[in-house]
Amino acid sequence: MLIIFIGPPGSGKGTQASLLCEHLSITHLSTGDMFRTAIQQETELGRHAQDFINQGELVPDQLVVDMVAEAISRPPQADGCLLDGFPRSLPQAESLDEILSADGNGIDAVLELDVDEDTLVARLLDRQRPDDTLETIKNRLEVYSQQTSPLLDYYRQRGQLTSIDGKGTVQDVHERILADLPSGKT
Ligand code: AMP
Repeated sequence: MLIIFIGPPGSGKGTQASLLCEHLSITHLSTGDMFRTAIQQETELGRHAQDFINQGELVPDQLVVDMVAEAISRPPQADGCLLDGFPRSLPQAESLDEILSADGNGIDAVLELDVDEDTLVARLLDRQRPDDTLETIKNRLEVYSQQTSPLLDYYRQRGQLTSIDGKGTVQDVHERILADLPSGKT
């Protein structure tokens, strides 16, 4: 099973992705977490990614695509995973399609967490991540609207997109996600 989670920074994507993975017993693959680990471990990938992340820019597509292609081919991910934060641009979505079709797999569901901008900024300013300064937050929201939001139409046109209202408590949103998951996926 492969589920894709799309949502602007601060939408609660990471938290909701973890809860859903627990519920479905599938692996949670967060590209943001993978980069943060690489930065902490001071790997070559971490060194490449660090400046982009600190400025709220996207890490170049090829770096991300290679990292994800390697990760999703490994067990237990190969049996089912949720991609949190990938794809984030149209070229990444097209690369993912190629990777999956080469494996004979498909995407089971694409979930969008929809939250208004004032709520996003308030939530982000409440977090303690190094890339959560006001300036970086504004850039990440801009990058989301320019580069990531076109993916919504890409998947909507294929009938794969489910939009979920991301307002309310963590539990409210989790229950909404379970209720709205395409049938047969719970
Ligand atoms: P996140 O934890 O999902 O908010 O990601 C944190 C940061 O990691 C983003 O602001 C980007 O700089 C980088 N990043 C994560 N996923 C991707 C991706 N799919 N493409 C490019 N950059 C990414």
